[in-house]
Amino acid sequence: MTRRLSLFGATGSVGQSTLDLVRRDGEAWSVGVLTANSDVAELAKLAREFRPDVAVIADETRHGELVEALAGTGIAAAAGADALVEAAQRPADLVMAAIVGIAGLAPTMAAIEAGTDVALANKESLVSAGELMTAAARKSGATILPVDSEHNAIFQCLAGGRIDQVRRIILTASGGPFRTMSGDDMARVTPAQAVAHPNWSMGAKISVDSATMMNKGLELIEAHHLFPVGLDRIEILVHPQSVIHSLVEYIDCSTLAQLGSPDMRIPISSALAWPQRMATPCAPLDLAGIARLDFQAPDEVRFPATALCRAAIAEGGARPAQLNAANEVAVAAFLAGRISFPAIVDTVRRVIDGQPPMVPTSLHDIFSVDASSRAAAQLLVDQYEHA
Ligand code: NAD
Ligand code: MG
Repeated sequence: MTRRLSLFGATGSVGQSTLDLVRRDGEAWSVGVLTANSDVAELAKLAREFRPDVAVIADETRHGELVEALAGTGIAAAAGADALVEAAQRPADLVMAAIVGIAGLAPTMAAIEAGTDVALANKESLVSAGELMTAAARKSGATILPVDSEHNAIFQCLAGGRIDQVRRIILTASGGPFRTMSGDDMARVTPAQAVAHPNWSMGAKISVDSATMMNKGLELIEAHHLFPVGLDRIEILVHPQSVIHSLVEYIDCSTLAQLGSPDMRIPISSALAWPQRMATPCAPLDLAGIARLDFQAPDEVRFPATALCRAAIAEGGARPAQLNAANEVAVAAFLAGRISFPAIVDTVRRVIDGQPPMVPTSLHDIFSVDASSRAAAQLLVDQYEHA
């Protein structure tokens, strides 16, 4: 039977990997929605290939271009934030949430509230609005299927036991491109060095997050919402080869792990096919070729981001949304060459310290926390730039 897929963030790294799998399994899927931020040419090209009902460009100023590019195809062209939400409310068997950043929150929530199962790559939305999102899923009956490789691994390992019998969840981390670099040298790294991840090919923002280890901190918060075992039961383990994608230890001290080549099409396929499995073109694991797997404790002195994230989710309320907003601004500023690499995490810390605690009870609250934290981060970025 054909399943209907709505894909948010079609032009990105996760979006393209998703479409690669859909393309190979064309009988299994029909695509209802494709979206992109501003790349009209690429979105129109994908729309002509996958024939969705609607293509949405987030940047409203590009609406005319998209209408023109899709003229005569019968595919509706829409634009803007409201159009993204409307597209997410359309009937679908699965929504792939692969927009980067808080921009993904409104459509992802709309899909969950509509009761549609969501394959979630867009970790920033869960980090910012975890309680609201998981409550909405419980209410509507939507299942959140984690796409992030670590969380997908944990999800798979949890099929082998009961969540109330979990002793520890161990989130693995590659350590990023600067794993062995001194703090002094890190002060001088360039955006090009930061986005060159040793194991994974990903979008620019998550690549920088991996280099600061903020990604692992965001993933700690993500895991806390997806797998409620208690924050003190979630640990981080550096594993440079990215072969073990995470582990679940049960009360009997039996530990289950999920392994695979570092290829996002594996966790994406797991979310697409769940509760079944589908064949992928990915390289099977060659453990004899890999020969050894290494592990080390994270260094929270050179990489303070994970401890910041742990403190933010322990305090709860608006802290994770403040942290996420500040990080998005700081990463963009670093990528634009405006601030240094260490200034990313410094900005996040200073924004959190300067923002009042509060408990958001609606998406509206989350967006206002996001906006004030962004403004605070922007001020700090301007100061760094002119210091
Ligand atoms: P990317 O930058 O390659 O793609 C982002 C997508 O979002 C693009 O389609 C872009 O057009 C769209 N987008 C960007 N800004 C937008 C906006 N303001 N409004 C609407 N759409 C917008 O990013 P990616 O690496 O594919 O990551 C996507 C998400 O998946 C992120 O949350 C990331 O943390 C998560 N993730 C990615 C990977 C990976 O391997 N790339 C792994 C795990 C999790
Ligand atoms: Mg991950």
